[in-house]
Amino acid sequence: MPAALIDSHCHLDAAEFGRTPAEIADEAAALGVRWIVVPAVERANFDKVAAIARQHPSCVYALGIHPMYVKQADEQDLAVLRALVAQAMDDPRFVAIGEIGLDFFIPELKDGPLRDKQAHFYVEQLKIARDFDLPVILHVRRSQDQLLKQLRRIRVRGGIAHAFNGSEQQAAAFTGLGFVLGFGGAMTFTRALQIRRLAASLAMDSIVLETDAPDISPSWLHPAVNVPAQLPRIAAELAELRGQPVADIAQQTTQNVARVLPRLGSLMMV
Ligand SMILES: [Zn+2]
Repeated sequence: MPAALIDSHCHLDAAEFGRTPAEIADEAAALGVRWIVVPAVERANFDKVAAIARQHPSCVYALGIHPMYVKQADEQDLAVLRALVAQAMDDPRFVAIGEIGLDFFIPELKDGPLRDKQAHFYVEQLKIARDFDLPVILHVRRSQDQLLKQLRRIRVRGGIAHAFNGSEQQAAAFTGLGFVLGFGGAMTFTRALQIRRLAASLAMDSIVLETDAPDISPSWLHPAVNVPAQLPRIAAELAELRGQPVADIAQQTTQNVARVLPRLGSLMMV
């Protein structure tokens, strides 16, 4: 039996898979992916991610509004989110606020009114996380410093900076605030020098694994649709980069997720 792994970020409800969430999660579980964290992206999929987690023993979920979905979101969605989170505190499969954050890569989001709107949604959702003492799952794209600025102001209990692609200094700032950094498919491309250098050199207690499926396919799969069953091979790639046994990588990254997502940590002990 391979060491248990956790896919700390997978949009299992996405239509791109062309298969049911249960089929995809089963396939991954057979390869040792014991847990899959399924973040929400908008009000319209809050119920879907919760249902997936209720229906499959591998799955847990997060609730939040993704910066790329802020355009069609309104103020009322934040109220709905807060009310749903209050209810979900009784659901052991609910583990975090996410996916939230800032995206300054997409031109439409970087400038103009959507820049302010995404900042507003990010801040308001951080407050929800703080008020319920929940970790957050962060979308970070060309926005490290702006995300950090608000994290210093609105103190949450940490979480995961997913698909991390920043400098060593920014990585240190996130870990200093209780975050771990998510590494996945991007790390498997030999030209991704900075990500690979970070993945090889960061302290092992600040790294978690993820697929971000159906997105960010690893180099050997690109551009086909990514799936959580790819996680063992991504773990092997990290093991090779660090010159460490894959069993150690699995054990430590699993422990890291349990630490930053304590509600999942409790589930793991059942
Ligand atoms: Zn995502």
